[in-house]
Amino acid sequence: MATEKASDVWVPVCCSRVMRFNKFRQADGGDLGALVCTVCNKNITLEQEPLATTSSYGEGAAILSLLGSPKPPRTERRSAASDDDRTL
Ligand SMILES: [Zn+2]
Repeated sequence: MATEKASDVWVPVCCSRVMRFNKFRQADGGDLGALVCTVCNKNITLEQEPLATTSSYGEGAAILSLLGSPKPPRTERRSAASDDDRTL
């Protein structure tokens, strides 16, 4: 399984903003994560899984370093996903 460059991190973006990450403790003791867009409230659930079980995810699967911040900066992101082409 491929790993991304150690110095790079993936930042979850929605509505040109960095998504907020919250971690919840489940009743069974495991942790559950949620990425939430502060603009449109889009919600992505992240489940933890032991690294050893990830071999079943098929070709092209990669372990990503994902940035999870409960209080990300509220500044607008310039990204390819945005069709807004203003300069700052
Ligand atoms: Zn959004």
